[in-house]
Amino acid sequence: MNPAPEIRNDVPQIEIAGVTKSYGNGPAVLQSLDLTVCREEFVSIISPSGCGKSTILKLISGLTAPTSGTIRVEGMTPQNARETVSYVFQEATLLPWRTVTANIGLSLELEGVASDRRKKTIASLLALVGLNHVAGAYPRELSGGMKMRVSIARALATSPRLLLLDEPFAALDEMSRDRLNEEILRLRSEQKWAAVFVTHSVAEAAFLSDRIVVLAPNPGRIHAVFPVDLPSPRVAALRTSPEFDALVSRVSHALRETLAA
Ligand code: ADP
Repeated sequence: MNPAPEIRNDVPQIEIAGVTKSYGNGPAVLQSLDLTVCREEFVSIISPSGCGKSTILKLISGLTAPTSGTIRVEGMTPQNARETVSYVFQEATLLPWRTVTANIGLSLELEGVASDRRKKTIASLLALVGLNHVAGAYPRELSGGMKMRVSIARALATSPRLLLLDEPFAALDEMSRDRLNEEILRLRSEQKWAAVFVTHSVAEAAFLSDRIVVLAPNPGRIHAVFPVDLPSPRVAALRTSPEFDALVSRVSHALRETLAA
């Protein structure tokens, strides 16, 4: 794998301009999508199922190409920007025969990072996500929340400048989800990456984001955008505040509008 390209601060993290996407000869899944994500910005995308949220992440990561329009990541094509991007999926997708340490180190091994440097990076990531006590454990010995922590640590091992998160906490109970939400914000304050976060949860989007994008279906398109003007750092108590409730209500209302459309 090549080293990550040098940072250019004169271009946004992501620029999606006039993107339409169809799979094969099928109908447009996304139509005329325009979306710019700034450096270190956290943008959530929320919609009913089938509006093209995962497709947007696949386009940004270069896993699929737009039918028309352009996508730039740090001013580059998604293919050329791949080394700057990491993905976290809903399933932790850990290798069952590898320990926590070896799972976190996988991408570093694939990159050919020397053993000494790998050990240092893994040690700091284990501490960062609070998994020191299970460093030698296997995935079957971990709770769902712990597995997701390993998955996040693995994604952060390559020092990404952009994290793509596809409903990473959807399978977790509410308490684990809330804790991981707080953890993600802490990690971001320490590591300064931008994120595009796909979720079905309005509260999760409100808690995490700088901006929330609501998509409407058939074809997927932007219905509404909500800048999130909640105080930072975001702490657990924010979830019970009137301004948080007001934002959740406004986003929920926009989501209902997409279903009625
Ligand atoms: P969401 O993440 O909002 O649920 P997706 O991006 O997964 O939406 O899917 C949007 C639409 O694109 C759906 O109708 C889905 O069936 C279709 N789709 C997604 N991936 C493919 C694919 N590889 N081939 C054909 N159709 C696909």
